[in-house]
Amino acid sequence: MAGHLYAAPMFVYETFTLKNGLQFILMQNKRAPIVSYTTWFKVGSADELPGKTGLAHYLEHLMESALPEVQMGQFLEDFNSSDTHSNAFTSQDYTYYYKMVTTDHLPLLMQYEAGRMRGVAFNKDRFEIEKNVILEERLMGAENDPTGLYSEQFNSQFFTVHPYKNPIIGWEKDIRALTLEDIKDFHKKWYHPSNAFIIVSGDFDPAQVRTWAETYYGNIPAGPKVERNRPQEPSEKPKIEPVITEHPRAAEFYLEQIYPLPNLKKQNYQDLLALSLLSVFLSGDFEGSLYEVLVHKKKLATDFSTQCLFMEFLDPWSFAISVNSVDGSKTKEIETIINDGIDQIAQTGLKPEVLALVRRYSYNEWVMQLDDIYKRAHLLGAVLNAGLTLDQINSLFQDYEKVTSADIQRVIKKYLIKEKAATGILKKPTYSSAPLSGRS
Ligand SMILES: [Zn+2]
Repeated sequence: MAGHLYAAPMFVYETFTLKNGLQFILMQNKRAPIVSYTTWFKVGSADELPGKTGLAHYLEHLMESALPEVQMGQFLEDFNSSDTHSNAFTSQDYTYYYKMVTTDHLPLLMQYEAGRMRGVAFNKDRFEIEKNVILEERLMGAENDPTGLYSEQFNSQFFTVHPYKNPIIGWEKDIRALTLEDIKDFHKKWYHPSNAFIIVSGDFDPAQVRTWAETYYGNIPAGPKVERNRPQEPSEKPKIEPVITEHPRAAEFYLEQIYPLPNLKKQNYQDLLALSLLSVFLSGDFEGSLYEVLVHKKKLATDFSTQCLFMEFLDPWSFAISVNSVDGSKTKEIETIINDGIDQIAQTGLKPEVLALVRRYSYNEWVMQLDDIYKRAHLLGAVLNAGLTLDQINSLFQDYEKVTSADIQRVIKKYLIKEKAATGILKKPTYSSAPLSGRS
């Protein structure tokens, strides 16, 4: 067959932007008469100012119960009986509100969401209630949960100035000090049409959605132009001491090697693609991959994964290598295998047939995720927030085809420099094996 596996675009979309700057991205999928509707604001926890961490997430909580300022009466009753699946999510770089309805309820939903974009009424009692909900969430997620505590401690040391050093949920003393005025100011600054986009995914009539968009959202004021002025990490920073987190409920010994990456999206996109394929190879079940060696062959690890975080974040993050093992006694051996394995690829590269398998595997993963109308909206919205374009994703696999084994060898030498890697460890406290006192 002459046809090329990756020749067709992975998804088809159309987009339009209203005069107030609100962008719509429409992606049809006629499999079932349902629509997923996600409203994205280009603001996340990394846009908060020092001392005000947790604002973006706090606002998300309040938005969930916030009603449009305009009188709704019967409309609200109709809307509430429309059986909406609803959720929201705050990341370091974005906040989104997700709803899923049957297609016949789409105009009602658009009217409701437009009302919330026009302005919401915040309520003082709700503000206090949510503060306790959030503090509880912080306790469960960031303090009582071993991996939550670990990432919080690691990131706070890995980043020197960039606000990625702060947890999304915020630091406890900041959350306690936040006021309703802080929330209102933050909302006023970031939540408006010119700082938002909406992804409509599923079964709908695009021409009709354009009309409704114009009718319901068209006359909302664009809002002030906002700039994201985040402090950026220095390009050269000293290697940090290993970050060791001990937690009595740590299930296994967990070890990470984190290589900081510079901003490669604009100038060195090809390098990112090479790192990304390398990541898929190392953590995949391929012959000679580190996953295969550590988990299957030598059984030193219960899990092994790598991540090249560039589609998930707006600003540079890292190339991460993580290992889970039953105990920490084999750490040196594991580290030697990882370092030797990567050095080996830097010297000899990957065989063309292995590289082809890695591309194919990665392609399948994308296609599977894009098949789901919710995951598709989540994935592509995140990609847009990371400063990439939908066309870049559509041509991802033509671009992956151009990545050679020599590129992979080159990026290892250029970016995976051992002297610069940070080490993170999560383990049980050494005393945890002692019998509990006071038991008989
Ligand atoms: Zn929450």
